[in-house]
Amino acid sequence: MARKQNKQDALDYHALGRPGKIEVIPTKNTKTQWDLSLAYSPGVAEPCKEIHKDVENVYKYTAKGNLVAVISNGTAVLGLGDIGPEAGKPVMEGKAVLFKIFADIDVFDIELNTKNVDEFVNVVKAMEPTFGGINLEDIKSPECFEIEDRLKKELKIPIMHDDQHGTAIISSAALLNAMDLVKKDITQVRIVFNGAGAAAMACVKLYVALGAKKENIVMFDKDGVINTSRAGLSELHSQFATSSGVTTLAEALNGADVFVGLSVGNVVTPEMIKSMAANPVVFAMANPDPEIAYDLAIASRPDVIMATGRSDHPNQVNNVLGFPYIFRGALDVRATQINEAMKLAAVNALAELAKEPVPDIVNLAYNEKNIYFGPRYIIPKPLDPRLLSHVAPAVAKAAMESGVAQQPITNWEEYTNILNK
Ligand code: NAP
Ligand code: MG
Repeated sequence: MARKQNKQDALDYHALGRPGKIEVIPTKNTKTQWDLSLAYSPGVAEPCKEIHKDVENVYKYTAKGNLVAVISNGTAVLGLGDIGPEAGKPVMEGKAVLFKIFADIDVFDIELNTKNVDEFVNVVKAMEPTFGGINLEDIKSPECFEIEDRLKKELKIPIMHDDQHGTAIISSAALLNAMDLVKKDITQVRIVFNGAGAAAMACVKLYVALGAKKENIVMFDKDGVINTSRAGLSELHSQFATSSGVTTLAEALNGADVFVGLSVGNVVTPEMIKSMAANPVVFAMANPDPEIAYDLAIASRPDVIMATGRSDHPNQVNNVLGFPYIFRGALDVRATQINEAMKLAAVNALAELAKEPVPDIVNLAYNEKNIYFGPRYIIPKPLDPRLLSHVAPAVAKAAMESGVAQQPITNWEEYTNILNK
């Protein structure tokens, strides 16, 4: 079992040595005067001129093609809320670390001091020349929707708001595999969402793209059920409004096949879980406390398939299963966007990988002997080294097939070998 960490461990980790978690390291020789005159003046003028002649050369002579911006304004940081751009910086630096160690993608973390959508969009737009891709992070809803939509339209580099789509992608893979295990058809199952924020809305959209029927989905927010007779429903929410007569979460869960929690901790009771259909699928993903504690849900009935956002239980819906590899694939074909086809490709690649035999190295990493596809393992583990060579090529292929790849890959074997190096 992992060591229990305390507050001081976390503070020391960040403060000891050089403060923070990242640094910039040159990739070329820099030891001699000769090297320096190439790295900077006068040699550097040559790539400048080549890029000036043809702007696409920026990918040939600079770090742009492997550089992602993780951009936040600190308005919805983890479960901490609107803590501001500086207070969000440790999270963004952390994301930079994950991009680097899992997919060798370099990141500049950028914390913006603005809550204004126009200003946010304009600032990010102006940064397009620097980056190969943009990961929007921890921006509160509803601003996050407009910011992402506008940037996707206006920029020619891949953009993804990970809090929405990362969660949707990973939980979709979990849902497909759970459906497989319980032999239910996604087009038939009744799904109840608690939470109607950034993550939940993206999940509904992707589950529907995978076959779930809108009329089988009921969604709740803080004020209760989102239905067609609710007064003052926003345009965003009205597309998810149910016309069924249910009013409470307990009522909605009665006989439901799937529960998806993206709200707050401890709002689901064992009785509610007991009232669900046979082999219920329960994704209680509120952090740090799930909508119902793992042990409580499992104890309430033996046939439940459970996932949470936590690392101390099986089936952790962890966004790190997605973003490093989705961006890797997108960057490697120089995709102009991260589109639905690419997201679905990531979903399927993750779902399929969980069905493959698990190598020793993964068992070892988790101090387990025999991890195998089943109710306690419906999605890959974050430390699975196969993720890179499974997910990135799938995303790259989908980008090519959907016509957004500017630099297609032709030799897939060679590409996979490079990834595995
Ligand atoms: P968000 O945009 O703030 O949305 C939160 C939603 O929960 C809102 O719709 C809110 O309702 C609703 N809510 C709050 N209390 C509720 C209650 N008692 N009953 C029903 N609904 C309630 O946040 P988010 O980014 O979507 O994230 C939501 C939660 O999921 C957080 O705990 C987050 O940590 C977690 N999460 C986990 C993962 C993961 O495990 N990988 C990924 C993403 C998010 P109103 O709209 O009425 O305020
Ligand atoms: Mg986040």
